[in-house]
Amino acid sequence: MTLLIVMPDKTKQAESWARHLRKLDPEIGIHIWPEAGTPEEVEMALSWRHRPGEFLKYENLKCIASMGAGVDHILCDPNLPPNVAVTRVVDPSMAQSMVEYVVMTVLNHCRQTHEYYREQRRKEWKPKIPRTADNLCVGIMGLGHLGMNVALRLKQMGFSVVGWRRTEAAADSVTTFHGREGLRSFLAASNVLVCLIPLTPETRGILNRELFDQLPADAFVINVARGEHLVEDDLLAALDSGVLSGACLDVFCREPLDPGHPFWSHPRIVVTPHISSLTQPARVAPQIVENYHRMKTGRPLLHTVDPDRGY
Ligand code: NAP
Repeated sequence: MTLLIVMPDKTKQAESWARHLRKLDPEIGIHIWPEAGTPEEVEMALSWRHRPGEFLKYENLKCIASMGAGVDHILCDPNLPPNVAVTRVVDPSMAQSMVEYVVMTVLNHCRQTHEYYREQRRKEWKPKIPRTADNLCVGIMGLGHLGMNVALRLKQMGFSVVGWRRTEAAADSVTTFHGREGLRSFLAASNVLVCLIPLTPETRGILNRELFDQLPADAFVINVARGEHLVEDDLLAALDSGVLSGACLDVFCREPLDPGHPFWSHPRIVVTPHISSLTQPARVAPQIVENYHRMKTGRPLLHTVDPDRGY
């Protein structure tokens, strides 16, 4: 039985994963794609953005482990082998990193930091009244592992927080709306909107003109989920017409963002290169090795996703 690391065009990162996995269990037979050893021996794949159809080559494959919290890069393959478990990463250090990124961005929005940076370059002294936590509500789309951590931290800091999820939950510690029927009320309350839902057929393109029009005046959008959640032209139109006051984007339909893309130079868009919460192999390798052993001994795997639900 072997484990195949599949990271097209990222050999150095794949080698780093292999080192961390071997440190925890030197007995695991590890191959780095495209070298796969004997294909029939591959029973587990650790994957980030594989080539569609690749996994059909391994007839004894039992588990595809995503290197990240999202599994859209796996489930988008129309030629996945049937009956293979798909797992994702659930890691407190990733949640902490996402909390820091979103808190930083919300505070930058409140204190208008980017405007002060621009004014400093022009040597302009222009004090402004800051937005304050007690009159700002942050709406978190997706109250899963990452969204709930972000929501609770912002609440601790004195912000009003509302959340939106797919299903109704019995006892959420933040005010929660759910489903399409709850979306309008959720949006109407959200001065800052944070997108932290998985990319599924239901959520693709959800950040669009119709949604922006339902936010309060002066709203700010933070997308830290996936680029395909956002209809890019609708965002530009909403910013240029004053429907939105600004946006912070960490993820894009095409990464790296094209040098000619209008987001780079838009005065009210902050761009970061998909770094809000990076997977650290050293932190995450233990749960991959744990699942490898669970698979070998026929025990239930950790952090499996439901392919029909898409997350
Ligand atoms: P998670 O634990 O699976 O939580 C997903 C949340 O989204 C759940 O609350 C779920 O609702 C909700 N949701 C799913 N589909 C929905 C729909 N159609 N309508 C409304 N709510 C919906 O996921 P997570 O670990 O928090 O991660 C969320 C996403 O963040 C990942 O999928 C990934 O794309 C993104 N991410 C980005 C980065 C980055 O660096 N930018 C890093 C890590 C993750 P229920 O509670 O009702 O199930």
